Amino acid sequence: MLYSKLFGKTKKTVNQQFESKNHELLTKGGFIDQVSSGIYSLLPLGKKVLSHIENVIRQEMEAIGGQEISMPLLQPKINWQKTNRWSTVDILFKTKSQYGQEYVIAPTHEEIVTPLAKKYIESYRDLPLYLYHITPKFRDEPRPKSGILRGKEFGMKDLYSFHADKKDFEIFYQKVIEAYLKIFNRVGLKEIKITEASGGSFSKKLSHEFNVITPAGEVDLFYCSFCSFAQNQEIATLKEGELCPRCRKGRMIKGKAIEVGNIFDLNTRFSDSFDLFCVDNQGEKKPVYMGCYGIGTTRLLGAIVEVYHDDKGIIWPENIAPYQVHLLGLDQQDKIVNQNCQKVYQQLIKKKIAVLFDDRQEISAGQKFSDADLIGIPHRLVVSKRTGEKIEYKRRDQKESKLLTLEEIIKLCHQG
Ligand SMILES: [Zn+2]
Repeated sequence: MLYSKLFGKTKKTVNQQFESKNHELLTKGGFIDQVSSGIYSLLPLGKKVLSHIENVIRQEMEAIGGQEISMPLLQPKINWQKTNRWSTVDILFKTKSQYGQEYVIAPTHEEIVTPLAKKYIESYRDLPLYLYHITPKFRDEPRPKSGILRGKEFGMKDLYSFHADKKDFEIFYQKVIEAYLKIFNRVGLKEIKITEASGGSFSKKLSHEFNVITPAGEVDLFYCSFCSFAQNQEIATLKEGELCPRCRKGRMIKGKAIEVGNIFDLNTRFSDSFDLFCVDNQGEKKPVYMGCYGIGTTRLLGAIVEVYHDDKGIIWPENIAPYQVHLLGLDQQDKIVNQNCQKVYQQLIKKKIAVLFDDRQEISAGQKFSDADLIGIPHRLVVSKRTGEKIEYKRRDQKESKLLTLEEIIKLCHQG
């Protein structure tokens, strides 16, 4: 991609109050645009990062048997009355058609997925079943804040599981915990702390929350310095400095975190509302046991920026970066330099390395370097009069640069 053609350039001076670091860096870097409080557009760079995150999630959901579907965002009132949530959930966006029908604009999809599954589940042979989708969700937040960490509209992956009995659910629930840890690891979040909590308005059953430790977080935790064990400070039975009851190796540390995923035992709460039964192997009719598993995708994007940045800009983890390589062409009025730039650009494309080429002629070298730092692509290449036949190579997360050949650079990029 040529940077000169890219929609959504960097903005160094923005006449805007920023709610958080992710809000500031994603706006200045040209990844997002705020429409109003809690509502954002994703620009091409932001959309690319989100797609990469979604693809990682998709792969891990498919690996545990998940099947992707797409469910509507406009949901009939009657479905929400059946579960008694039309008047009890306070964050619901409700809308009325000019023809009189009333709807909920989706904050979650139990009201759709349960009657959908009912049309296809008859006996235990149809189970287990795992359905997921990645779609926008809506919450009528009184105070949207923290950039894309908490919006009125946000991206989410939600998976719903259907089981013949509780035991089968519990086995799958553990598989999801493992899959979630893989997902967070692959998008660059190596240290995830898991809390156990009651599910609030969604469920009275036990649930788990997946947290990213960062000073920008909104949840107060005590977490283990060694394993993934954590407790919410509000309900904590442990104190700072105490030995971790899980691993008996680490000590409890006090800190802030961003919640990026949560999983719930739904029991038969929604099966009961929609009369979702299956016939078991004894010929007996039983309510289907359900679980629900969410990951906030746009929130995850924001959380990654909170963890991976410095005073110059974002430092994207390799797997989700918008491009692998940021090629800066300097002294491009020089014919030979210009030819070298084009050659490097074409070779990288040929080797299937995603490259953003800053080909702008009118921009100073200093400006190009600071834009590259702000945008945060992992590998930076410079072609100029000074670099001659070679290319200056620098990783975004390191200080030193070195002169390498194109072949050496391609090898480095393929290693990640
Ligand atoms: Zn521990």
